[in-house]
Amino acid sequence: MTREIGIVGGGAVGLTAASDLAAAGEDVTLFERDALAAGSTGRAAGVLYDAYAGEIDARIGRRSIERFRELSGDGEFEFHETPYVWFAHEDDDRRGDAIREQVAGMKRHGIDAELLAPEDLADLAPALDTDDAGVAALARNAGWTDPATYAEVMAERARAAGVDIRTHTPVSLAEGGVLADGEREAFDVMIVAAGAHTKRILEEAGRSIAMKPYRVQALVLDAALETPMGYDASAGFYFRPHPDGLLVGDGTEEVESDPEGWNREADGAFVASALERTSERFGLPEPTVERAWAGLCTATPDGDPLLGWLADGLYVATGWQGHGFMRAPALGERIAREVRGEPGIGAFDPTRFTGEEEFPIVEGLAL
Ligand SMILES: Cc1cc2nc3c(=O)[nH]c(=O)nc-3n(C[C@H](O)[C@H](O)[C@H](O)COP(=O)(O)OP(=O)(O)OC[C@H]3O[C@@H](n4cnc5c(N)ncnc54)[C@H](O)[C@@H]3O)c2cc1C
Repeated sequence: MTREIGIVGGGAVGLTAASDLAAAGEDVTLFERDALAAGSTGRAAGVLYDAYAGEIDARIGRRSIERFRELSGDGEFEFHETPYVWFAHEDDDRRGDAIREQVAGMKRHGIDAELLAPEDLADLAPALDTDDAGVAALARNAGWTDPATYAEVMAERARAAGVDIRTHTPVSLAEGGVLADGEREAFDVMIVAAGAHTKRILEEAGRSIAMKPYRVQALVLDAALETPMGYDASAGFYFRPHPDGLLVGDGTEEVESDPEGWNREADGAFVASALERTSERFGLPEPTVERAWAGLCTATPDGDPLLGWLADGLYVATGWQGHGFMRAPALGERIAREVRGEPGIGAFDPTRFTGEEEFPIVEGLAL
């Protein structure tokens, strides 16, 4: 029997779930309060990899890269194959040990990752000053893309499969459905994939979840460099090639943000420190900032997502700890399967927390 399924959120996760559910024959309506990808998806850096040390994460990461590749070349979407390197400084034993452990975990779970000798890192990333690099690693199953294009392509697929996508339609939860434009609409299943707004939407419906939105930042420099993607774990910033130069990200604010009232502009201090660190690392004399911005990520007490049933007919999908875009193809697929009756992932069960937990925000890339 076909059910009526409502989805709140037109980001990468909601759109992928909508497309997969409709392709499986479900009747789906997706509500987006703004334009599609207007939330975190349109602000993401688009770094994609499967380099996860945990078994479930590795499986999700691998499946996502597989789906990104399948989609690449289909219309406008492009997955730019680019290796990902990460390293600690030679005096940073703690992070160096953490990288060794990560790589061992990745290998155990079939991820194509390995430790790199300093000369191999220098060969792979000749534009990067690697003199002070200590433990370094490489993941090959990686690349980058434009997140907004992913959302567009996914929306096209969803519409073609029959999804009713309603943009500029903010909704709140009502008994058995939603309130949209003052009208109550009933759904058999509601999926809340509303990014940083998810907690507030559920709170209005009397449900508490253990999630905190937090602010992160990125910028694009006009430096034309041949480089792999990378993460300087000791200095705490990541980078990837960008059509306009080099994209650099960090600027994590480890405090809870109000999803309605946060500063969308990058801070001057973040821009200055990103410029200084990248100038040093890449030997750039005076790079110009093309664009700088901020966006929200979502943290949970244990760093794992909140993905699953909160109550009968109410499914939640949030808490990606800065890794929601690269996992969206597999997360959306999981959502579709679970909503269609498959068991969920125990470690991601949203009811493992009461929602009243006190917890610190820990940036997602931190080792
Ligand atoms: C600067 C930056 C860099 C990042 N880089 C990366 C990266 O390289 N790789 C990676 O994997 N992740 C990255 N992320 C994280 C990534 O952006 C998110 O994890 C991901 O986009 C989350 O997707 P989502 O669909 O869950 O949420 P969103 O994209 O936030 O979508 C939720 C949608 O719900 C809508 N909504 C909210 N309330 C309502 C309502 N009441 N009614 C209707 N609609 C509503 C919002 O408008 C929004 O469009 C980055 C984030 C930032 C800010």
